[in-house]
Amino acid sequence: MTFPLVDIGLNLSHDSFDHDRASVVDHAVAAGVTRMVITGSTLASTRAAVEIARSDPARYRATAGVHPHHASEFADADVPALRELLLMPEVAAAGECGLDYFRNFSPHADQERVFRLQLQLAVDTGKPVFLHQRDGHDPFVAILRDYLPRLRGAVAHCFTGDERELRDYLDLGLSIGITGWICDERRGLHLRELVRFIPLDRLMIETDAPYLLPRDLRPKPPHRRNEPKYLPHILRTIAGCRGAAPEAVAFATTQNAVAFFGFGAA
Ligand SMILES: [Zn+2]
Repeated sequence: MTFPLVDIGLNLSHDSFDHDRASVVDHAVAAGVTRMVITGSTLASTRAAVEIARSDPARYRATAGVHPHHASEFADADVPALRELLLMPEVAAAGECGLDYFRNFSPHADQERVFRLQLQLAVDTGKPVFLHQRDGHDPFVAILRDYLPRLRGAVAHCFTGDERELRDYLDLGLSIGITGWICDERRGLHLRELVRFIPLDRLMIETDAPYLLPRDLRPKPPHRRNEPKYLPHILRTIAGCRGAAPEAVAFATTQNAVAFFGFGAA
């Protein structure tokens, strides 16, 4: 049985899809991934995501935001442009935004400034947030707490943290996005335990394509590019870890994503 799935994090405007984007989407739909949320991570990629989303509003939503890697490129003068994007009907969430102290491509002060700014824009525009956090848990939570009561919703996308981080997120009321990181036998093992603690009504699934190709796909794809068609593989892995039927996890995660990102009825 295939149940319609929603990929809540997909970088479909990435240039690695430029030569075959339509067939990537066709393959995803054939695999049951009928709806997709296209991640915006800069102003430019947000505009590209909105343009794709506009082409088929039943299939797509976009997020509008600035990834912490790009925080130092984002000036206060860019705020009106981001606000305008956030108000577009195709844009279902603010982000991805947050802190990434693992790669530190932008200085911490810039990351925190641009994170706060986007949380405020999310409050102002009434959009939920699509969050990214790596190696910055404590400052991330401290900043988020200031805005959470006024936010319409929040999902921690591509959760890869430890049990303490997960407990904190759940206590704060966040939803949790799980990617193919859970399929990684080197660094995803802890997630296989933790994923059982996520209440079914707070769980969503995503590929983060073209990044994070699941490492245990057999046969191994000829290239390393991840695609939304692999979402059912991630779903089955999660279901296996929870000792649940894939259909039950599919039904719940789709329902959660449809409600969070404002898709039409499933
Ligand atoms: Zn991310």
